[in-house]
Amino acid sequence: MSKYRSTNPMTGEVVAEYPVLDDTQVQTVLDQAQQAYLSWRRVEPAERTKVLSRVADLHRQHATELAELSTLEMGKPISQARGEVELAAAIFEYYAEEGPNLIADEELTIAGTGRAIVRTAAIGPLLGVMPWNFPYYQVARFVAPNLLLGNTILLKHAANCPQQALRIHDILAEAGAPAGVYTNIFATNDQVATMIANPILQGVSLTGSERAGTAVGELAGRHMKKSVLELGGSDALIVLADADLPAAITAAAAGRFHNAGQTCTSSKRIIVEDSVWDEFLTGFLDAADAWQIGDPTDPDTKVGPMASFAARDDLAAQVNDALVKGATLHLGGAVPESSASYYPATVISDLTPDMRAHREELFGPVALLHRVHSVDEAIEVANDSPFGLGSAIFTADEATALDVAERLDVGMVGINATVKSAPDLPFGGVKRSGIGRELGKFGLDEFANKKLIRIP
Ligand code: NDP
Repeated sequence: MSKYRSTNPMTGEVVAEYPVLDDTQVQTVLDQAQQAYLSWRRVEPAERTKVLSRVADLHRQHATELAELSTLEMGKPISQARGEVELAAAIFEYYAEEGPNLIADEELTIAGTGRAIVRTAAIGPLLGVMPWNFPYYQVARFVAPNLLLGNTILLKHAANCPQQALRIHDILAEAGAPAGVYTNIFATNDQVATMIANPILQGVSLTGSERAGTAVGELAGRHMKKSVLELGGSDALIVLADADLPAAITAAAAGRFHNAGQTCTSSKRIIVEDSVWDEFLTGFLDAADAWQIGDPTDPDTKVGPMASFAARDDLAAQVNDALVKGATLHLGGAVPESSASYYPATVISDLTPDMRAHREELFGPVALLHRVHSVDEAIEVANDSPFGLGSAIFTADEATALDVAERLDVGMVGINATVKSAPDLPFGGVKRSGIGRELGKFGLDEFANKKLIRIP
């Protein structure tokens, strides 16, 4: 049985299955990506941006169908799936419109005579290893800047979203990407390793777990290939005593329960100053209770089933471990009787370091609440994590907010709002959340050859 299977998380039924490549095909797709690169890099940027623009249009044109596939393959509520498709379209559109500026030559001011130019050039065929939680958005933020540059792409999507992977491939072809410029591959982990070792491949970008990231990063290092790793997070959302509590509560609930909590930048740890703890807790439990599980095809549903039964069972084990070791359960916390892989919105406090939930990422709708006595303690708790992706600080005092932002060991901080991904803003983390940045100019530069051209 192939590992590339669409399984409906509402029923557990396998609805489609696809074979993996054989080893000859692995070499063939690499050769095709290389051949395509030799001509794609020479195509005028204005022509490359036309393809990106058509990809954006096609995402919008097929938004309903694409969103329905997400609902089918990973249980994403249809309204949230539509939002994701629009974000993917906006990313392609951004690089189409801003592309010529983003890759324009930079003239350096130099001490000697003559001129020095830095050209933002392509480096060659790249491999993308992508996850299922935002199947369109994650692909868009890797593919759009790299096709703009003139790189070509082999895309290995997560094994549980093959229908979405194939649709993305079709859209790229329909938009006019020449054969070999973008190729979906159903590859095994061993084949991924073979590709990274192959001299044709020039870089690899992975979004996913720390486990997958370290495996791929290690291979990339060994074979001297550039890598970008976008891994897990355990983002803190800090609520200080002077915060606008209703705004903080609404943001914390949405930040934690959107996409059934299966988001790297979910507000997984909510850190609240003592003097507003009771008021925050009451309001947050009300807000969390509004995030009810339901049929993901219903436009009013806010929390669908989790993407897989295995992920749901892992999450339940992490929660049970905390409860057995003395955590306080305020809401949820039990797997409902259902044929679907549901897990309800859950709220826990009184975490201790011996609990799995203290150090591991909880990739589902479970909020961990921490009560602190000062701003300093809030920062200490927030930084006490192996991860360093995003965070948010809620306070009425801008100077305090900026000071906290400075002291948090993360890649992104939102003030009085959670961090939202946008086409023109850099996205990425520090510590075990990964290496590198995606989106905006920063993401474009990751797989660019910043080539110096010296003119006498
Ligand atoms: P994985 O990290 O296993 O999957 C992400 C991608 O990496 C998939 O395409 C997967 O392929 C691939 N992959 C996994 N292992 C390897 C390997 N050794 N070599 C090459 N490719 C590999 O995520 P899971 O779906 O298992 O989720 C587990 C946890 O990962 C979650 O609970 C969450 O903590 C974290 N995660 C974080 C994400 C984020 O956005 N930061 C996204 C998804 C997960 P395949 O599907 O074929 O195994």
